[in-house]
Amino acid sequence: AVFSVSDYLRDHIRTVPDWPAPGVQFRDITPLLQNPRVFRVLIDAFVHRYMAPELRPDVVAGLDARGFILGSVVAYELNVGFVPIRKKGKLPFDTVAETYELEYGSATVELHTDAVQAGQRVLLIDDLIATGGTMMAGKKLLEKLGATVTEGAAIVDLPELGGSARLREGGLKLFTLVEFD
Ligand code: AMP
Repeated sequence: AVFSVSDYLRDHIRTVPDWPAPGVQFRDITPLLQNPRVFRVLIDAFVHRYMAPELRPDVVAGLDARGFILGSVVAYELNVGFVPIRKKGKLPFDTVAETYELEYGSATVELHTDAVQAGQRVLLIDDLIATGGTMMAGKKLLEKLGATVTEGAAIVDLPELGGSARLREGGLKLFTLVEFD
């Protein structure tokens, strides 16, 4: 049989039903990080894509918190810098902020004002795209500072929630490795 990176990664993602709330199928990537061979296949899938000269970013931005785990390793391998987009109240220096709606309430993410320079090409990474709200907020923060988000990358897309379609309609190119219904 042909080796499928997508199937291999999917086999190492754990689904936890009704967590953190009833009706949510939580896609837990910790088993994938825990196994060194699987972790390498995962990181290499991103690194090989973004090493290509036309896709190589100037900076990798990671979304709090699982985007930090992936984004920092990818940035290191690409020999570019890493910047964290954090939940409100965690970054100590001057920040820009973006608030977005959740199913119940809202969330705010922040980015240091000197994290990226105008004109820089940024790869935005998270573990999973659900409604797309988090990644859209990250894109807006980077654009407030004059940077261009060349692509959004995640391990998992949940296409039925419509987030990836909305992000693409909003002009963001996306790269994801595994889909769950
Ligand atoms: P969203 O903003 O709706 O696209 O949600 C994406 C963010 O929430 C990511 O940072 C994910 O880590 C987390 N998330 C949302 N839904 C799930 C899920 N079903 N399983 C795991 N993580 C999720």
